[in-house]
Amino acid sequence: MSEDTRFLNDGWNLEHTYAEQLPGMFYTEQIPTAVSVPQLAVFNDELARDLGLNSDKLKLCPEIFTGNVLPHSSKPISQAYAGYQFGHFSMLGDGRAVLLGEQITSNGERFDIQLKGSGRTPYSRRGDGRAALAPMLREYIISEAMFHLGIPTTRSLAVAFTGEEVIREKALQGAVLTRVAASHIRVGTFDYISAYGTEYDLRKLADYTISRHFPYIENEKNRYLFLLREVAKRQAQLIAKWQLVGFVHGVMNTDNMAISGETIDYGPCAFMDTYDPNTIFSSIDIRGRYAYKNQPDIGAWNLSRFVESLLPLIDSDENRAIEFAQAEIANYRKYYDDYWLAGMRAKLGITNTEPQDGEFVAELLSLMETHKLDYTNTFRRLSFAEEISELSDWREKWQSRLSRQPQSLDDALDMMKRNNPAVIPRNHRVEEALTTAENGDLLTMHKLLDALQNPFEDSEYYSPPEPNFCKYQTFCGT
Ligand code: AMP
Ligand code: MG
Repeated sequence: MSEDTRFLNDGWNLEHTYAEQLPGMFYTEQIPTAVSVPQLAVFNDELARDLGLNSDKLKLCPEIFTGNVLPHSSKPISQAYAGYQFGHFSMLGDGRAVLLGEQITSNGERFDIQLKGSGRTPYSRRGDGRAALAPMLREYIISEAMFHLGIPTTRSLAVAFTGEEVIREKALQGAVLTRVAASHIRVGTFDYISAYGTEYDLRKLADYTISRHFPYIENEKNRYLFLLREVAKRQAQLIAKWQLVGFVHGVMNTDNMAISGETIDYGPCAFMDTYDPNTIFSSIDIRGRYAYKNQPDIGAWNLSRFVESLLPLIDSDENRAIEFAQAEIANYRKYYDDYWLAGMRAKLGITNTEPQDGEFVAELLSLMETHKLDYTNTFRRLSFAEEISELSDWREKWQSRLSRQPQSLDDALDMMKRNNPAVIPRNHRVEEALTTAENGDLLTMHKLLDALQNPFEDSEYYSPPEPNFCKYQTFCGT
């Protein structure tokens, strides 16, 4: 490989602290399974540059993005984890993914580089280790949209065709996604160690997590309690941001909750068009456990699982540990409420606080629900002070609310335009991009990706779907 000039100065600078610092039960060494015809479907030049990678060189070697060729400094592993899926504990692990290593950027940041859809692993259970094109492009599109909306998320560096079929309900084109993440440590990683490891293993994981994501708490006396607090804060902030843009994750199992506070594992997720707190898109979520309105509570439920794993480290006296931990869960709720209300004030151009602001926002949401208004566009239209007939009474209160702060109306509207996106990855647009991509035309997807890079600029992508698109459903495990 060394004499191949494609690999000179391609920018890879991979480290492997996860495998080096954690006991063997945390991972398995795993070489990706080669595919027949590697070819890039989409490549993220901007992200490659930020990672210190040489896009021009890398695009000449699509084999890297299917796992046929390994970057020179990679040591691929699959990670072990468990998770509570719809409330029930299961042993899981990377059943179709390998971590190539941790890319160190020129300013010293560390990012996991993972191939998803790269073949079977010891954690595959009955799965084929593969992924289909549409769901991988879907993750690419939505994760990049989330990033440009300012929401913490894993990112997507590339999607490559495999030239092979994957068999689902029918034969589909196969693909591999290259995912970039602050780390892939999940609540489920703690669930796994808590169920199968020793206290030593747990401490190793907690210390590794602290040094990787929360180095500023390393010297706290009870750093594990601080770990819980920091995870709770980031989770509260993340879920508040989801709620503020109308994002429904769809499968908030503990294995799909990253300790870093990034959105991870884009499966049956989607953005809601019409405002309805009961929105759920996933075909398998019959009871609506992961409906839009339940996301903040599920965050608390998942944190409780995290607490249960951490208890032995928090205090040797279990009762005291429980007491401390319960206080932190209660704080999560408060952090969430504060982030959410602050975000809603920004969406409405409000710069100071009044005790009845919460009620005032609730009144707007209730009107939006009653009149089946589009969530995104209602806020966007308000940002241009547009008249919305269904909201006329509320609007008078809003105008008077804005008069009770020092900023001018124009300043308030400017602020609103920066906090209310015009462009979100609407389901009908995403589906259109995926269908055309499956038929070999990638242009529609590229145009959509371009619009999603500037979500606060008006464009043709603002329009909601025709009413007949309303019963949108998404599917898991694809
Ligand atoms: P997800 O629904 O993508 O969060 O995945 C849940 C679990 O199923 C994880 O352990 C995945 O690695 C595994 N999994 C999903 N799809 C496949 C597949 N096609 N082959 C093997 N494992 C899979
Ligand atoms: Mg998952």
